[in-house]
Parts: sequence; structure tokens; C-alpha cells
Amino acid sequence: MVREMAQPKPDLVVTASSIRKEYGIDGLRVEALGGLDLKIREGEFVSICGPSGAGKTTLLNIIGGLDKPSDGEIVVFRHDLAKYDEDFLAAFRCNYVGYVFQLYNLISTLTLVENVMFPMQVAGWPDERIMERSGELLELVGLTDRSDHFPAQLSGGELQRTAFARALANNPPLFLADEPTANLDLDTGLKIIRILETLKDEKTVIVATHDGRIIDLSDRILNLKDGRIASHGYE
Ligand code: ADP
Ligand code: MG
Repeated sequence: MVREMAQPKPDLVVTASSIRKEYGIDGLRVEALGGLDLKIREGEFVSICGPSGAGKTTLLNIIGGLDKPSDGEIVVFRHDLAKYDEDFLAAFRCNYVGYVFQLYNLISTLTLVENVMFPMQVAGWPDERIMERSGELLELVGLTDRSDHFPAQLSGGELQRTAFARALANNPPLFLADEPTANLDLDTGLKIIRILETLKDEKTVIVATHDGRIIDLSDRILNLKDGRIASHGYE
């Protein structure tokens, strides 16, 4: 008899080795990341800090499989991302990654609930499960009463909470957020912090941020400077 064996969970979620990212061509080249090494373990909550232009968004995009490094290796959940084509990466993002973009990136022609349902439809979930899950997610972010509104009818904080609900739809083990409170007033930002708190200990979370309240939630702070990690936050 063949015994079923549980797959051991990977301890390391992200391993970046000497990653470099260059944008542009010829005379207009910009080096956004300059040979960066990084390891993030399962369940860690990591804040990526650093001034504007330091490479925070570029790093999140590479970890999330949205962009590829110009050089170096990026392994996320044991997948060597630079080796895969766009179809694989789309499936990888759908299964593993929830990403909250700095500018929300909601689909303007879909209502709020339709935006939240979208990733589950792409993943091919049954309709009933999609309805149920989207209801739960809207409740989590406190927007049940706005579910049939369109993005243009929502405030910045509401758009951001919708973006969180959408990013969590497929229950991804890795959650990335790019300066999620940067454009929000203090009170509205607090609602986002509360949602992030619920993710701690449940997922691996990587947030680019300057917000002290998010930094306080973190297990570790990575300071980026000129495309390199100035400090890893280990004592
Ligand atoms: P941060 O998120 O920390 O502000 P970014 O990752 O957005 O930093 O940018 C890092 C550097 O790369 C900056 O100098 C920025 O101007 C440059 N950069 C980012 N995206 C592009 C792009 N698509 N084309 C050219 N340069 C870019
Ligand atoms: Mg950025």
C-alpha cells in the first residue's frame, strides 16, 4: 500500500539572490535594484521601508511575479520565477499571491462586489462559492452596504478596502501591499491596519510602507536604499 505523505511546508517563502533590475535602454538606463539578497520565511510579516525611488515597488513586483529581474534568481514557494512564461506566472499569481497596488487598480466598469468576485471567476470557482466568499470578504472590510457601487462612487479608503478584499479572494498564502495607507487620512488608514492585523500569523505578509503603525506590526523591517538592502532588521 502506498502511504500518502503530506508535503512538507516550505520554510522559506521568498529567496532572492543577487537580483538586479534595470529599466530603460541605452543612455536612459536606471538601476532600480542593485544585487539584492533576501530571504523571507513562512508566516513572517515584513515591512519594506526606504525613500521614494529606493526600489520598493520594483521588489514587490518581482516577488509577486509581475516583473522579472534583469539578473539574479528569485524563488517564491519553490518556483524559480525568472524561468517561467507569462501563462505560468498568471497562474502562479492567482494561486499564491494577493497584491494590493498603490493605486488600487480596480476595474472601473465592475461594481465593488464584481471586482472582488473577479479573481475567483478567473480561478474557476463554482458560482455559489464565489457569492458566499465575496460576501464574507466585503464583511471583513466593512463594505457590505456598498457592494453594488462602482469604484468612481467610492472614497480612497473604500477603494483600498475593496482592493484588500479582492487580493484576499483566493486565500493566497503570500500577501503583498504597496504603501497601503500612504494616500489615506489617519482614521481611514486605521481600518487598513486592522485588516493587516487579521492577516498576521495567518499569511506571509510583505508591505512597502512608511507607516509606523504597520512597522509596529512587523516581525522585521527591511531598509532599502538605492536598490540595496541597507539593513535586514535582524538583531
Ligand atoms: P519606490 O517604490 O521605492 O519608490 P520604485 O521601485 O518605484 O521605487 O523605483 C525604483 C527606481 O526605478 C526609481 O529610480 C524609478 O524612477 C525607477 N523606475 C521604476 N519603474 C520604472 C519604469 N517602469 N521605467 C523606468 N524607471 C523606473
Ligand atoms: Mg513605490
